[in-house]
Amino acid sequence: MILYNTLTRKKEEFKTHEEGKVRMYTCGPTVYHFAHIGNLRSYIMEDILEKYLAYTGYDVDRVMNITDVGHLSSDADTGEDKMLKGAKREKKTVMEIAKFYTDAFFADCEKLNIKVPDTVVPATSCIPEFIEMVQGLIDKGYAYLAGGNVYFDTSKLKEYYVFNDHDAEDLEVGVREGVEEDTNKRNKIDFVLWFTKSKFEDQELKWDSPWGVGYPGWHIECSAISLKHQGEYLDLHCGGIDNAFPHHTNEIAQSEAYIGHEWCPHWFHILHLNTNSGKMSKSKGEFLTVSLLEEKGYDPLVYRFFCLQSHYRKSLVFSWDSLDNAAQAYEKLLKKIAALDENDGELDEAVFNEYKAKFNEVMGNDLNTSLGVTALYDVLKAKTNGKTKLALLADYDRVLSLNLIEAAKKRKAPKEEVAADTDANDPRILDLIAQRAAAKKERNFAEADRIRDMLAAEGIILVDTPQGTTYKKA
Ligand SMILES: [Zn+2]
Repeated sequence: MILYNTLTRKKEEFKTHEEGKVRMYTCGPTVYHFAHIGNLRSYIMEDILEKYLAYTGYDVDRVMNITDVGHLSSDADTGEDKMLKGAKREKKTVMEIAKFYTDAFFADCEKLNIKVPDTVVPATSCIPEFIEMVQGLIDKGYAYLAGGNVYFDTSKLKEYYVFNDHDAEDLEVGVREGVEEDTNKRNKIDFVLWFTKSKFEDQELKWDSPWGVGYPGWHIECSAISLKHQGEYLDLHCGGIDNAFPHHTNEIAQSEAYIGHEWCPHWFHILHLNTNSGKMSKSKGEFLTVSLLEEKGYDPLVYRFFCLQSHYRKSLVFSWDSLDNAAQAYEKLLKKIAALDENDGELDEAVFNEYKAKFNEVMGNDLNTSLGVTALYDVLKAKTNGKTKLALLADYDRVLSLNLIEAAKKRKAPKEEVAADTDANDPRILDLIAQRAAAKKERNFAEADRIRDMLAAEGIILVDTPQGTTYKKA
């Protein structure tokens, strides 16, 4: 598989340390609130990646943490613990909040067909491992005690900014957002491994440590949990792009300092979900959750379908209109599948293998899910019998997880209606046209061209007119 690597900033062949086995780590949620659908975009794309690797024959072992302590309001180690904030907001204990929002997270995952990782580890279950790692870093000279806290000394590294897109300027922003600077730090970019001193004396969860009673920093959690469950050679680390700095940068710094060699060669990052007013966040605008989508009458899988229509390395703009388009396209797709007859013919293996290879070609090229969705339509148009088409759709759906066969069975689409649809204004194509117009407006001509070429490959020709863009079949 060819997969973009944020660390090398190149598309490269994905390789593993042990043949046939993928050790995969994904940063889990901080369970102080519901996940918004922007967070869930990352988990959907990681799920597709995991399933695609398994589809191609790998044995994938995936570990995910649950952050239930140590993640402060600002990623730059300042402010109140997010968990404590959640507990105060809801007048509950931190552990009650953790339990409630962990369950809520996995309930959302289930609705979105996101598989639960093989190993899920709450940070509070690994305190001895964190302490051991922090002590190891002190012993090796990479960490120091100051003002009651233990800090990682970034000046001991040859290279700290491993994700080159981020530099000292980002840090300045981090410091500004964090309001105040921590004067205990030897270097501005040092980060906390263990807190014993905090302005927030009501921090609920604290543990004994060689440096006093306190709690772990957020970054050490992922390193220690990954090392504990995956060993010193991780193959693939995933997360949302805003975790690249400082979180993943710090994970790499402390893991490699601790083990003394390269830790994880391949990093997979998913771009943001934006709204028209900017990056989606919990504090800004409408709080978009899976429950809200359901309240408004959407099947959560429509949101999954919406996410798949875009590449994970492009930021995606969410609007209710585009979700409506996705809903219509999904419904129409299901009706077409419902019209297929599983008793029509025998499985044509040659056709099956040919189309499976086509699916592999697009998904194996940096996980191109939008072409993966297009491949579904190609199957529907293929010159073969119903049995072969259904077998192919079920096969693709092992990765895409759109419940295609099961949901289609619930739709009894009269054949005439499906036939009549063919030349109508296809909402999926109209949505792509709208995405292309938006890309052009942002002067992102590469993306605009990509959409045009993708449609051309399906035999759809775009016609730009002064009134807007229309399309015709080639
Ligand atoms: Zn993490």
